[in-house]
Amino acid sequence: MDDIFEKIARHEVPADIIYEDEDTVAFLDIMPDVPGHTLVIPKKKARNIFDIDAESWSNVAETARKIAPVVRDAVGATGMQIRMNNEPSAGQVVFHLHVHLIPFHEGQPKNFPTKQGSTPEERAQLAEKLRALLQN
Ligand code: 5GP
Repeated sequence: MDDIFEKIARHEVPADIIYEDEDTVAFLDIMPDVPGHTLVIPKKKARNIFDIDAESWSNVAETARKIAPVVRDAVGATGMQIRMNNEPSAGQVVFHLHVHLIPFHEGQPKNFPTKQGSTPEERAQLAEKLRALLQN
């Protein structure tokens, strides 16, 4: 069965996509911990770290590496946590592999979750800025 992230990857449902290449998509989390909270997914379906193939995982990791400093700088952060929940026992809710990129500012609490949320307008504006910076 199709999951929501597969539909985002196929552009069948709206999302604030900030980067896309042949194998991966990066978009803003709909309920961000902080502004700039980004998810990176493979286009090829994988449930989580336990069943993704090596090549797809490399593609996801490379996209995360490529966009991380751009996301950090765009929101004026100084650091970033990269998190991943695998299986319900570890907090996974959407069963299409995704890596969370969560910008951190000085003094920001490190505990999870810290969901701050955002408006569609805020996400759209930030996504536009990030797309321009990432230029793809
Ligand atoms: P996890 O499965 O790792 O617990 O987290 C799933 C993440 O996906 C959550 O942070 C949640 O806010 C985000 N999310 C769930 N549904 C959607 C959606 O339809 N669009 C976007 N952009 N993010 C979503």
